[in-house]
Amino acid sequence: MNNSRRSFFVRAVGVVTFGLISSLVNAEERRRARPAAGSDKAGGATGPLANPWLDPKDQTAQALSYSEKHADVKKADLKVERNGVAFEKQKCNNCSFYSEVGTKEGTKAGNCTIFPGKLVKSEAWCTSWNKKA
Ligand code: SF4
Repeated sequence: MNNSRRSFFVRAVGVVTFGLISSLVNAEERRRARPAAGSDKAGGATGPLANPWLDPKDQTAQALSYSEKHADVKKADLKVERNGVAFEKQKCNNCSFYSEVGTKEGTKAGNCTIFPGKLVKSEAWCTSWNKKA
């Protein structure tokens, strides 16, 4: 192998090595910048936890008598058995529409398919409560 060919291969290997190292460093920086799933860091939650809490004054929430605290439901006609489950045992955290995503502001939070883009509290309740299979 003559000198110019050797020189070319040495430079090519150097460029490829530099590119690989740069990619690895960038990937590591992106990984470190991303908070762990389900975290609620002081700088603000990300992922599903970044969604706002469902406002009980939201039109649909009101129509479904959504209450952030199951214990605050006062109307007797709402406190009925559903799917064979006594009202006292009905909460978002055991509703078929609920999937927990983590803890936000010290409260367990979840997604509800009835309220996309919002978080509901695990101890909340609404009239669409449905027994988890
Ligand atoms: S549908 Fe279920 S999870 Fe959604 S707000 Fe009502 S009780 Fe909670």
